[in-house]
Amino acid sequence: MILLPKVAQDLLLKKIAQRSNVSLFWGTTFQGFVYEGTKRTGVEVDWNGEKTTLRAPVIVGGDGVRSAIRTALQIEHRLHQYKDGYLTMVVDRPPGFEGETRYYLGRREIFGAFPVSKEKIYLFYMVPSGCLERLREGSFEQFKEKILSFHPATRSVLDAPLKAVSSWKETSYMPCFRVRCRRWVTDGAALIGDAAHAMNPHVAQGRNTAMEDGIVLAEVLEECFRKGDFSAEALSHYESRRRPSIEALQRLGDELTWLWNSGFPPVTWARDRIFRSIHCKRDLHDKILMTIAGLKESPFHLTDRWRALHLWGGLPDGPRENRT
Ligand SMILES: Cc1cc2nc3c(=O)[nH]c(=O)nc-3n(C[C@H](O)[C@H](O)[C@H](O)COP(=O)(O)OP(=O)(O)OC[C@H]3O[C@@H](n4cnc5c(N)ncnc54)[C@H](O)[C@@H]3O)c2cc1C
Repeated sequence: MILLPKVAQDLLLKKIAQRSNVSLFWGTTFQGFVYEGTKRTGVEVDWNGEKTTLRAPVIVGGDGVRSAIRTALQIEHRLHQYKDGYLTMVVDRPPGFEGETRYYLGRREIFGAFPVSKEKIYLFYMVPSGCLERLREGSFEQFKEKILSFHPATRSVLDAPLKAVSSWKETSYMPCFRVRCRRWVTDGAALIGDAAHAMNPHVAQGRNTAMEDGIVLAEVLEECFRKGDFSAEALSHYESRRRPSIEALQRLGDELTWLWNSGFPPVTWARDRIFRSIHCKRDLHDKILMTIAGLKESPFHLTDRWRALHLWGGLPDGPRENRT
């Protein structure tokens, strides 16, 4: 299932706003913590230009990759920016672009087109962040031509929708990050989502894991409220339940980045071979699908990687184009 994040987010926010025990403060920016003695008792925020204090026994930082709450909590962390990010745009969905996604991998090149609604498709093109300035200084028409000539099938499908976009302003650049924190909880505070553990988007689990964090943290907090104990130790049940699967996904994200984004011929050979034959090994196919769909996480062993290469037996017949 692919959709623009805002669609799901708006639905969830609408539901949340209907709850009588939830207050939403739109337009607030975190400024710092409020203390009573040495005890952290709330946050100071800028609320549409006004300084406001919000008090709470526990503070949850879900403020993304560059989390200001994480910095204020002085949580030791490593923020890694991957070499490659994605230039993206949303264009009209052309006739004939049915339900399937199109995902093309070349040498150091990735281009994809995903249907996100009945009317729109989402395009993404891999661009190393170091090359973005140079690309944007060049002609937008040349860039469109690059997309159209990516694969024989792209021109016929994307010619019309790309004619309707005319400038770089209609594109966005999405850099990719990984965040590793020494800890996700401290006395009276916890981090969730990208603030705690951003991962490469090849695993397509950033938002999903952020929501999963919320579910687990809510269960742990219920116990904390019952006991009136918001210490790091009490909150650590949340971290210990979530960390192993998050670390496995981060490792998988890095492995997929190495394999998919590569320009090194032996690696691209292996990658193409895996893509063309993975559906022959149904169990392996389902394992990776379940992981990337966020349904079930299973560890990938050396034998899985070896089997994925499909070194014995010919490759399945059919066009080079693979559909997933
Ligand atoms: C190219 C790309 C493709 C992706 N594809 C997928 C995918 O297919 N599936 C998937 O699950 N994930 C995907 N992700 C990852 C996903 O976008 C993130 O993991 C997800 O958005 C993290 O959610 P979050 O709520 O933790 O952080 P964010 O979405 O970054 O939200 C943080 C919020 O905090 C607010 N904020 C920041 N600082 C402050 C402050 N000082 N005060 C107040 N508020 C503040 C921000 O305004 C923002 O609203 C992708 C990411 C990239 C880059």
